[in-house]
Amino acid sequence: DLSGQVALITGSTSGIGQAMAEALAANGANIVLNGLGDAGEIEALRAKIAADHGVEVRYHGANMLKPDEITDMVAYAEREFGRLDILLSNAGIQHVSPVEDFPVAKWDAIIAINLTSVFHAARAAIPIMKRQGRGRIVNLASVHGLVASPFKSAYVAAKHGVIGFTRTLALELAEDGITCNAICPGYVKTPLVENQIADTARARGISEEEVVRDVMLAAQPTKQFVTFEQLAGALLYLVSDAGANANGTAITIDGGWTAK
Ligand code: NAD
Repeated sequence: DLSGQVALITGSTSGIGQAMAEALAANGANIVLNGLGDAGEIEALRAKIAADHGVEVRYHGANMLKPDEITDMVAYAEREFGRLDILLSNAGIQHVSPVEDFPVAKWDAIIAINLTSVFHAARAAIPIMKRQGRGRIVNLASVHGLVASPFKSAYVAAKHGVIGFTRTLALELAEDGITCNAICPGYVKTPLVENQIADTARARGISEEEVVRDVMLAAQPTKQFVTFEQLAGALLYLVSDAGANANGTAITIDGGWTAK
């Protein structure tokens, strides 16, 4: 039961972040949403999560490319709710391309959004959590934080960085009642993955059907996409009291991908 707790989820206007915000709200947490998108759709999502679960839901539109906006988003959470218990850094983008053709601007954006924003959000949240004597920082990494795939150089570099950062925070905060862990999904069917199918087909010179069968689900021994419910199970464990000694870990939910 997360009643009375406050959770901030970056990149929660779509996909995994949205689903994790809904799961936290379903367990009683008040929510700060964040992410890009159409203002009307975001307001409708905000109102729906609040109504569905009887919790308070706010939205802050910080762009993860902008350190000042990230800091302001964390301050906004504390201003609105007086506390911050759970920080889920989830915002992320992908670009698939051979490294020698990799657009420099894409590299910079992926490192900034997928890695550096995780630092800025944690940096701002830690003083609040230290004052409370308790906090849960969870970073949505990826199996690509542990192993590589071709044509995803920036993403793999950023996600490996997220896991390194997660482990470092776990050590720094271990005596402050704050844990820091990473969740490492395999393939989850979200807009991020749907968009990659066409790009991967182009990069590898195969059809989109072959990408799903031979590239994506071939990597995942269960041959099943990971579901939001399966990710929420791990998240709810990590943020619970039972998760107090799970610290610095990278939980893989990848159908056995990294067991090979
Ligand atoms: P998605 O595209 O559905 O959602 C990404 C979210 O991040 C959106 O809310 C978007 O608005 C937000 N975002 C993107 N750029 C932003 C910016 N500059 N500032 C603020 N918000 C921004 O993607 P998803 O698949 O739900 O991915 C969520 C996280 O899970 C990412 O970190 C991704 O790397 C990771 N992940 C996804 C999969 C998968 O198979 N889908 C697997 C492993 C890890």
